[in-house]
Amino acid sequence: MAYVITDTCVSCGACAGECPVGAISEGDGKYVIDADTCIDCGTCAATCPTGAIEG
Ligand code: SF4
Ligand code: SF4
Repeated sequence: MAYVITDTCVSCGACAGECPVGAISEGDGKYVIDADTCIDCGTCAATCPTGAIEG
């Protein structure tokens, strides 16, 4: 089960730079995680300042 970015995202971009496999990109109004690429490492969730990423 891949990690998911919720509506609490403020599009700061911090998570995208930390993802080891480049699974995070800027979407429409918030950032999004490509479920097929995510390896469930949890790094992005620990990085997000608003707690927007759930795993
Ligand atoms: S859990 Fe890890 S692999 Fe998945 S999007 Fe977050 S940083 Fe990337
Ligand atoms: S770190 Fe959190 S608030 Fe920033 S872009 Fe990623 S999900 Fe959105």
